[in-house]
Amino acid sequence: MKKIEEYVRNIPDFPEEGIIFRDVTSVLQDAEGLHLAIDSIQDLIGDTVCDVIVGPESRGFIFGVPIAYNLKKAFVPVRKKGKLPCETIEKEYALEYGTATVEMHRDSIKPGQKVIIVDDLMATGGTIEAIVSLIEELGGKVVKIVFLMELEGLKGRNKLNGYDVESVIHYS
Ligand code: IMP
Repeated sequence: MKKIEEYVRNIPDFPEEGIIFRDVTSVLQDAEGLHLAIDSIQDLIGDTVCDVIVGPESRGFIFGVPIAYNLKKAFVPVRKKGKLPCETIEKEYALEYGTATVEMHRDSIKPGQKVIIVDDLMATGGTIEAIVSLIEELGGKVVKIVFLMELEGLKGRNKLNGYDVESVIHYS
């Protein structure tokens, strides 16, 4: 049986020279790869107790929903600005060039709820740091953050000090 990292396609010089892009579509388009990815992320969660799984648009949906379904928990999407129809809270964060804004519905997390964040990949950690602050603004408690892949060289963990962060695949 292949290991999970063998399903990830590595694309040199995308989206710009010097970057190795870790492509998750090659994992998803293989039935065994998809199964292994979801099971491996869920294994990291283990018996951590939570009320809600939160996943950022769009690849956080792909992995977050099946895990929420398996654990019989709710799923809350985090979306890019302007997509959610009801009252939202938002957080802007820095990108390499410019900024981005993420939003959550104000009623999506209840005060005191335990939250696990699921996403495909941590690079700089900026996206997840913004999402943690939204969850906490709503009164939720982030009990764990799990990724399929982590680009360790970008030191995203430094933005998430004090949180329980785990990844299935580590790239140096
Ligand atoms: P961060 O906010 O810098 O941690 O960026 C996280 C997001 O950037 C991830 O959710 C990915 O969608 C995207 N991303 C950055 N690098 C890669 C990559 O090599 N492969 C796939 N997605 C990437």
